[in-house]
Amino acid sequence: MRILLLFLLLAGATPAAAQIVVIDNVNVVDVDRGSVRSGLTVTIEGNRIASVARGKPPVPVGAVRIDGSGRYLIPGLWDMHVHAVTPWFGDYFLPLLVANGVTGVRDMFTTGPAVAEWRRKVAAGAIGPRVGTYGVLVDGYPPIWGPQSMVARNPEEGQRIVDSLAGTGGFVKVYSRLDSATFVAIAVESKAKGIPFAGHVPQLVSAAQAADLGQLTVEHLTQVLLGCSSREAEYLGQARSAWASAKKWDSLGVLSRGRLRGLLDSQDDARCRALAARFAKAGTVMVPTITVLRSIAYLDDSTLAADERLKYIPAFLKSGWNPKTDFRFKMLTPDDWKLRKEQHARELAVLRLLHQAGVKMLAGTDLANPYIFPGFSLHDELELLVGIGLTPAEALRSATLEPARFLGATDSLGTVAPGKLADLVLLSANPLADIGNVRSIVTVIANGRVFDGAARRKILDDAAARAARPPGR
Ligand SMILES: [Zn+2]
Repeated sequence: MRILLLFLLLAGATPAAAQIVVIDNVNVVDVDRGSVRSGLTVTIEGNRIASVARGKPPVPVGAVRIDGSGRYLIPGLWDMHVHAVTPWFGDYFLPLLVANGVTGVRDMFTTGPAVAEWRRKVAAGAIGPRVGTYGVLVDGYPPIWGPQSMVARNPEEGQRIVDSLAGTGGFVKVYSRLDSATFVAIAVESKAKGIPFAGHVPQLVSAAQAADLGQLTVEHLTQVLLGCSSREAEYLGQARSAWASAKKWDSLGVLSRGRLRGLLDSQDDARCRALAARFAKAGTVMVPTITVLRSIAYLDDSTLAADERLKYIPAFLKSGWNPKTDFRFKMLTPDDWKLRKEQHARELAVLRLLHQAGVKMLAGTDLANPYIFPGFSLHDELELLVGIGLTPAEALRSATLEPARFLGATDSLGTVAPGKLADLVLLSANPLADIGNVRSIVTVIANGRVFDGAARRKILDDAAARAARPPGR
């Protein structure tokens, strides 16, 4: 409903022959109810689930049989915040997502042509997830990420960019440097043209205003701690003055660093609950990307460099995962790092409060950012969501049924049910008992294509080998 073109996009490729796959005697995890149904046989024809039946129907001749005994079948996972559909990272990351059971993504910074090219590649046999929808990044001037961003310096430019996305299937990813008037113009035009907008709450805008204007998702809790501060109005006023000054964003950067102590000291749970109620009322969804909030708070911790999953990351990317060289972090002092850890503790407390107030959350990782590992980090994110109070079933929903709802695609995605697309993950242990069991992957089925243990191992080995080679070889 929200993203109209989705079905055209999801229809995508079907495997060449309508292969039949039968998973028998399996425990199917009902993510909606948070329960398990045992002794079922799931039959897949081509890229669709044909039936989910009790007992043991005969296996058709030529079908692939997978023994489901003692195993748990869940819908394919979604990572709702990646930067993966790019000429730089796509070939490194996309197969790894599938190997880790991530069969769908929302890309938060790409272009229509890049997504179309990726879908063509998958249709032709490349291994990768479905791209449910994608955002085109729209920032103010100068844009944080440079020339790949679209830039809206004023309301007219914002409006023109929204219009240019009509009919493309993409949405507007609003970014941190949009000024207030331009942000409002984008929101109004998005509503008028039926094009969603989602992303960061800009630094000159309050989270409550973004919610009221219909921002669909708020990433990384942008402006939320500010919204939970009793000094929000004062701080926003200061930010707008700094932005209006000659040094603009430079002066705002200095200001933000200098007031983090004050921001943390002025946190007010009552204000936070009021903000949560506003999110819940407006239907604003949080994509907290706790994995990246954590890695950025702990980036100065040298033990991160011992993570064995670094072998999957090409040198040209991980060399940038260094707080001493990354332009966003290199000015930070030891005291700043200490404060950032305090900030992270507060973020977790705020998330707990938002969840208690009924604010919806989607699982996302911010893949391509420091110490985010393709697919692996989505499993981490689910554990972190349980850490802020979600039940394992709720965490699982945030990566399955809730993304399907968000995409308006519950008739084809989000649960294990007849007629739905065959995006499935077979686990050796029950994720409702311990969410960490999402790592116990036996087999992944992506759009009907089966990746068993050997196929998954090959994806992992190939990815490590590729990451070790210089780019372009
Ligand atoms: Zn991101």
